[in-house]
Amino acid sequence: MRRSTKIVATLGPASSDKLVLERMIAAGVDVVRLNFSHGTAEDHLQRARTVREAATACGREVAIMADLQGPKIRIGKFAEGKVTLTSGARFVLDANAQIGNAERVGLDYKDLPRDVKPGDVLLLNDGLIVLDVERVSGSEIHTIVRVGGELSDGKGINKQGGGLSAPALTAKDVRDIETAMACGADYVAVSFVKSRTDVEMARQLASIAGEKHNVRPMIIAKIERAEAIPQLREILDAADGIMVARGDLAVEVGNAAVPALQKRMIKMAREANKLTITATQMMESMIVNTVPTRAEVSDVANAVLDGTDAVMLSAETAIGRYPVEVVETMASIVAEADRSETVELDQQFLNQRFTRVDQSIAYGALFTAYHLRCAAICALTESGSTTLWMSRHDIDIPIYALTPSVATQRRLALYRNVHPVFLPKTEDREAALRLAERILLQQGYVKRGDLIVITVGEPMGQPGGTNALKIVRVGEHV
Ligand code: PGA
Ligand code: MN
Repeated sequence: MRRSTKIVATLGPASSDKLVLERMIAAGVDVVRLNFSHGTAEDHLQRARTVREAATACGREVAIMADLQGPKIRIGKFAEGKVTLTSGARFVLDANAQIGNAERVGLDYKDLPRDVKPGDVLLLNDGLIVLDVERVSGSEIHTIVRVGGELSDGKGINKQGGGLSAPALTAKDVRDIETAMACGADYVAVSFVKSRTDVEMARQLASIAGEKHNVRPMIIAKIERAEAIPQLREILDAADGIMVARGDLAVEVGNAAVPALQKRMIKMAREANKLTITATQMMESMIVNTVPTRAEVSDVANAVLDGTDAVMLSAETAIGRYPVEVVETMASIVAEADRSETVELDQQFLNQRFTRVDQSIAYGALFTAYHLRCAAICALTESGSTTLWMSRHDIDIPIYALTPSVATQRRLALYRNVHPVFLPKTEDREAALRLAERILLQQGYVKRGDLIVITVGEPMGQPGGTNALKIVRVGEHV
């Protein structure tokens, strides 16, 4: 079954084996996420190699996304590994504490005491534990436990409403960007982005480190900080896409605000010609169960209806019991949601302004395919930019991106409704058009007699060079 919305799967101990990866890719994984919050550089390099091998074995390309840890603030370790906090008790977060107990624990971010004041609310372990700040003295934050529970080593800390000053890129992130480039990452996801500067810095570091390895990653800004929301337009401008990072975002802005924010972010990103990934707890119960809850099914389907490029699996595939089944299940939910709405090219489309030749060809192709009820849109593309414009609008016609560039094929794995296909390099335009048609026929993407729209550039092989649109009846000249 054809599916427009893509699937990102996080790798971990449950999904590092080559055979498991092959089965996951066959089940529908389009992008794998290397989570730099866990594992060593060698782990990531090894996983990246295995991913490329598994993808080759499956006969298609997948994208690799390196997700930087960022300044996730964590508590230190406890003598016993964990403690139980009871509501009403006092608890101290101490930047200078070495080993923790039921009264106090250390912090990996020494400046936290400077960022909080009496009356602030600190949320630990994804918001399961709530602490009210009573006073701050030197390196110590004195709190009263509002909601208690079990607290174990290294759990994350968020401040309700945001306002932590840690920069988005830590020294570890800078080192990890090097590793990510050595992994040949197609995407780099930047955690806890606050402003466009964070994104620009990541892009600069990645482009310097990427040069050695001949990779030029796309940058995804993870929106998970309260401060990022008012900066969204600026951040979108600097990034290639965003992740609706609902885990940390929910803790900072409150659970209830997240669904509306998700819709707004996806809409804004699409209008800005940018990519979106909807993430966290999408199929959470499948970490241990073989079937999702009804609510999870609806959540995944709703993200598709919101227009996301991809839905993401985190712990479900990293440490879950059913890394293959969860992908299969997600793929079937997505495919059904993809087909559930009758698509009408929206009225706003007519008000689209365009300034570039390739952009006007992209929109022209979309409009033509829509009204002629074409079976496919076929873009001969070097960089894939024409397909990005096309894929920002819902249309129930598949877009095939035919490209000689493997890097483009991989990158396009994330784009909604874009299906990358390898096209051997050909200088002659007519020969390339015939070859493209033949490949689509051979792969079963189109059949003889189908009407298709093809976009192409003359001369061939120049990024951004698309300047022609052709309508073809398949099989007439092949
Ligand atoms: P994480 O990011 O899984 O790296 O924390 C996603 C999120 O916060 O939702
Ligand atoms: Mn996060």
